[in-house]
Amino acid sequence: MNVLQLPHGQLRLPVFLPDATMGVVRSVDSADLARCGVQGVVMNVFHLMRHPGSSTVQALGGLHQMSGWQRPIVTDSGGFQAYSLIRQNPKNGSLTNNGITFRPGQSRRRFTLTPEKSIRLQVSYGADVVVCLDDCTHVDAPLETQRESVERTIAWARRCKREFERLVDQKELPREQRPLLLAVIQGGGSRDLRKRCANELLEIGFDGFGYGGWPLDGEGNLLVDILAYVRELVPAEFPTHALGVGHPAYVVACTRMGYDLFDSSMPTRDARHGRLYAFTSEAPPSIPPIGGEVPSSIPPHWGGRKGGADWFSYVYVTDDKHIKTDGPISPYCDCPCCTDYSLGYLHHLFEVKETLAFRLATMHNLRFVTRLMERLRAERR
Ligand SMILES: [Zn+2]
Repeated sequence: MNVLQLPHGQLRLPVFLPDATMGVVRSVDSADLARCGVQGVVMNVFHLMRHPGSSTVQALGGLHQMSGWQRPIVTDSGGFQAYSLIRQNPKNGSLTNNGITFRPGQSRRRFTLTPEKSIRLQVSYGADVVVCLDDCTHVDAPLETQRESVERTIAWARRCKREFERLVDQKELPREQRPLLLAVIQGGGSRDLRKRCANELLEIGFDGFGYGGWPLDGEGNLLVDILAYVRELVPAEFPTHALGVGHPAYVVACTRMGYDLFDSSMPTRDARHGRLYAFTSEAPPSIPPIGGEVPSSIPPHWGGRKGGADWFSYVYVTDDKHIKTDGPISPYCDCPCCTDYSLGYLHHLFEVKETLAFRLATMHNLRFVTRLMERLRAERR
């Protein structure tokens, strides 16, 4: 699939969608995003429910109006937050077949998300792509936990679909104004469970599918085998979203498996921490070396937390060696920072903790990612 038509325009695939978790990509505004070639963003139901709160989002005219972003928005269901907050620390709430109750930080305020409520919120926010509430796990969780997660994810997806159809029928939305509904495939590292989950979800019927669960193993390696297997379970005509995959090397690997959508806060978070991405050569032709074939594992030193790959490298802006660098972060970048400012000046902005540093660094990393996706789109054609 090359293009996804949505109520607020199209997404050319594959596409990277930066996380605008709280309704904003931190430290940049929507004009900055557009300048970097960003096509769409991902916002999060759970976080927006807490801040600014659902009634406030609606009073401010929905997500597009509120954030000044007129291009596509994918909303995440809150399932991943249940995993990261509750599965890892049961004191933060509880998970039942009915839904999820959050009590973050053991605060007195409770937040409840049921499959129906998650869908109602996403539709009322005006999202272009709505994601079913799912029960997310880590690949190392016991088989029994994975089994429970799959059954719950299927049951919740059924309830999500019913609520979604009720809402779009009630609103009498014409076809082109209807958001898409995405379901998430769980099952951890078990092929049997992934297959069961995918088959059931395909049977219920959705517009697209997501790879659910944390996509890395305990050492930070991409779960190549199971990601590739899950992609094969879904017919090629459906768009697939590798949720939470954001490392450039992993985005390349998953694109070559056939995934179309990516979202992560990694490039923008790295930027704010002074870790900048730079291509090691001028634009196309190719991004070696994951070649046509995807290796069975990608070691962290190659594409993980510690280093770059041979087609891109990290520039640590706060390193002393950059104090007097009068050239840009990267000679192969056309972002506003590289066009107008030197790496030495950006180093100085970081040193004096000037907020402009975050904005310029974020625009640089976003531009890196959008250009990476341009290269990958060209490769797919
Ligand atoms: Zn740049």
